[in-house]
Amino acid sequence: MRITGIDALYLRLPQIQQRTDSSQDALLVRIATDAGIVGWGEVDSCPWAVKAAIEAPVSHTIAGGLRELLLGENPLEIARLWHKMYERTLYCGREGLFVHAMAGIDLALWDIKGKALGRPVWALLGGKFRDRIRVYASNMFRFTPRETADRVKWCKDQGFTAAKFGWEPFGRHDLAFDLRMLEAMREAAGPDFDLMLDVGLVWDATTTIQRARAFEPFDLFWIEEPLHPDDLEGYARVSRAISQRLAAGEEECTVRGFRRLIDEGGIRLAQIDVTRCGLTQAMRIAAYAAEKGIPVANHNFTTDINTAASLHFLAAVPNALVLEYCVEPSEISRALAKNPFRLEDGCFRVPDEPGLGVEPDPALIDKYLVRGL
Ligand SMILES: [Mg+2]
Repeated sequence: MRITGIDALYLRLPQIQQRTDSSQDALLVRIATDAGIVGWGEVDSCPWAVKAAIEAPVSHTIAGGLRELLLGENPLEIARLWHKMYERTLYCGREGLFVHAMAGIDLALWDIKGKALGRPVWALLGGKFRDRIRVYASNMFRFTPRETADRVKWCKDQGFTAAKFGWEPFGRHDLAFDLRMLEAMREAAGPDFDLMLDVGLVWDATTTIQRARAFEPFDLFWIEEPLHPDDLEGYARVSRAISQRLAAGEEECTVRGFRRLIDEGGIRLAQIDVTRCGLTQAMRIAAYAAEKGIPVANHNFTTDINTAASLHFLAAVPNALVLEYCVEPSEISRALAKNPFRLEDGCFRVPDEPGLGVEPDPALIDKYLVRGL
């Protein structure tokens, strides 16, 4: 089998709002083969720049566009192709954008391999440790405690047993505002519902330690990214000082980056976005975390391609904690798949269909595709 085409499709809502919500657009990767099998991947990054990383013509031997490197290759040789892409983009890659683009290609290659062999991706990753995974509803903070509490109730009514809120107003005001927000949320949630807090990188270590101690009565399931991802010394101070689980990782896209966060930053949960790391690297990151006694979760604020790939990944590692699922209302994010996931007892079933088991809807792609790029 040979790769005959790689397309980067940019979908975008007509109006993009200035909020930290990456469900408003999507960059899909579609790989075609001479066997007629098509694989789908996705990248959560800067979509236009990722499209350029894929489609750029080769400049020289270590500054290549990814498509030209892969046309004519055997799509089943995923590990070798990852290595080829990495080595042939050393000037422009190794971290960030090009690795993100490689991740989207990697997901599409796993989808092709599963479809070619008639097996779900989890089986190709080594087998599954579980048939279902607990899902938490991932939200942006609303601007008032009342609005956020209403959103907690909505999550409960949908059947979720846990929800995360992040960014926007939280942490940017005084402690009293944050306490009012958490009080309203816990009251709406009741005692048997898990709440996660995503701080959105706005504090220093001292502020984080003070506020985390003040938040102890609200029994948070974890505290995520209070500090800038480069502040490893700060993370180390925080993780030694607070009782809550400290979570981070969504800005990282390499094993090296996660090793720094775990070894130097002392984080207690590694959050891996498969649309930035690829499944090939996600498995290596999870194995490293397992050696260190740390669980992993996914990061997912985009479409059901991300959700499906994350389900296969979390099914196939022993140290999976929960699955993140974006519940912001963007049609691109929530209606891309013709076969969306359904909650059963607060969980998603791990797909058993060949490949990733997700079917993008051509009509939805046609509706939101940005043409002429
Ligand atoms: Mg986050």
